[in-house]
Order: sequence, then C-alpha cells, then structure tokens
Amino acid sequence: MRRPCDRCGEREAVVRIESLNESICDECLSTRIWRRVKPILDEEIQTGDVIASALSGGKDSSLTLYYLWKYKKESNKDFEVFAVTIDEGTCYRAESISKAKELTSRLGVKHKIVKMSEIFAFSIPQVQVLLSKSKIKRDLCTYCGVFRRQALNIVAREKGATKVATGHNLDDMVQTLFMNLIRGDMSAMARLFSKSRSTEKLIPRIRPLAKVPEKEVTVQALLLGIPAHFGKCPLVSGMRVRVRRFLDRLEQENPGFKERAFNFIEKIVKQAIPELTYHFELKYCKLCGEPTTQELCKVCQFKQELEAEVLSTTD
Ligand SMILES: [Zn+2]
Ligand SMILES: [Zn+2]
Repeated sequence: MRRPCDRCGEREAVVRIESLNESICDECLSTRIWRRVKPILDEEIQTGDVIASALSGGKDSSLTLYYLWKYKKESNKDFEVFAVTIDEGTCYRAESISKAKELTSRLGVKHKIVKMSEIFAFSIPQVQVLLSKSKIKRDLCTYCGVFRRQALNIVAREKGATKVATGHNLDDMVQTLFMNLIRGDMSAMARLFSKSRSTEKLIPRIRPLAKVPEKEVTVQALLLGIPAHFGKCPLVSGMRVRVRRFLDRLEQENPGFKERAFNFIEKIVKQAIPELTYHFELKYCKLCGEPTTQELCKVCQFKQELEAEVLSTTD
C-alpha cells in the first residue's frame, strides 16, 4: 500500500481532497459523495415520479444516471427512471453516444436518443457554419445550451416524465452562479435556487450532483468503471471558459472556495427569492407555445436570427 487513507487508515488513498487537507480511499470517497447526493434525491424524488435523466455520455450525466439507478434499487420509493440523449450532431457527441448506450444497457435502463435537428431544423454544426459567416456575436455554447434545454423538456414531457435530472456538478453550478453575477441577472440567479414549479409544459429539474466537485465526480466515475466520455466539449468557448479558468485559479489558491461560495450565495438568494419571483412569471412563447419568461422563447429568437442569416447569405 502506497499511502493509507487519512480517514479510515485501512485502505489505500486514491484521491486528494485539498480543502480538507486529506487523501482518502475509494470507499471513503463513495461515502463522502453519497452523503451529498442522497439528501437531494430524498428531497426531490417521490413515489410515482418518472425521472428523465439527461444523458450526454459524459462523466457527469453518466454518474447521475448511475445514482438514480442505485437510489431506485435501495430506497423504498416506487419511481421510474429513463435516459434521454439529445444528439446535437457533433463528432464529439457521436463518441459519447456509444458510451451512453453502453451504460444504459448495462444498467437495464430505457434510453431515448433524439436528434436536435429533428426538433429544431438546426443541428449545432449547422449553427456553427452560419455563425462563422455572420455578424452575430454569440458563442456557439449559448445556442447549444438553449436548444438542448428546450429539446430535453420537450422529449421528457412527451415521454410522461415528472422530473428531469441533469448532471451539473458543483463546478458547473459555481460557474453559472458567477456568470449570473457578472451579467447582473437576478432572475436567472433566483431560478437557479428555486424549486421549479411544475406546470403543464415545464418539467421541473433536479441536479443530484450539484454539491459534488468535478474532480470527485471524475474519480468516482473512473473507480466505478462507468462507461463515459471524459473529455471536454471541443467547441466550448466564450464567457464560461474565462469564468472557469478564473474560478479554478481561486480554488487552487484557496482550497474549498467553490463550495463556500456556492453555500454562501445559495443562502442569500434563497432568502431573497420571495422578492425575486415576480421577475420570472412563466409565459408561453407566441410562436411555438413552449414555456418562457418573455414573449418569444430563446429558441424562437435564435431561430429567427439564424433564418435571417440564411436568407441574407443566399441573396
Ligand atoms: Zn478510507
Ligand atoms: Zn418559441
């Protein structure tokens, strides 16, 4: 044994937790993560729920599906889980979809794969080409995020889901939180921490890994031998990348910073939510009828802009 676990002293340490100044073994890591995941599942999942687990084939969504499967097996709640993969049409996705299929067949979970272009008439590579020729100054990631979110909601709703589970980890959550701070977007901040109200068309979301740091997700997924794609999306760009680098540097200099920042802002925002809720009265898009906070949903706004680009380039 190279170095014993700082917690149990019995098994070999496999991961360093800088914020605790400890190196811990596989079992102590599993316990540590499950302690953060289970309370979220206990609170969010009820008997009778049908959970659509968004599965990209990356480590985060794969581990999320694994925990939902484990929870279903171990808890006495009677609920259903199935996986949904939205295929954006990128080469990166092709690789992760095969991992996603491997995982769902191993767990015996139903799996629905839907092409983004079938829902919106645009795939992400097509958007990328249009953007490169246009004057629109928006990151490709923004389109991917907006299109994917709505596609997921549509597919989950059509399949009778009562909740959508996503793989966002602590690092993702803190990035989003800081992006909202930078933009001064109070209503997005409030939505991030409020229990989404279920309406006829909007399926509430749950984020089982919201309190688990990315590094621990990676190590846990590897230790469990979960088939998953471990790379980052090669198309990622823009503000999120800059924010991520900035936060990673702060974390390195102040171990535990991300967790403290998340808990701190969560506490403040949750108290302020009653005053912020009027900011996000839910409406329905005038064009497609999907839920939105504006007159037109983001997807329709983006589609209109892109269609205008197509017309101007074919002139
Ligand atoms: Zn241990
Ligand atoms: Zn719309």
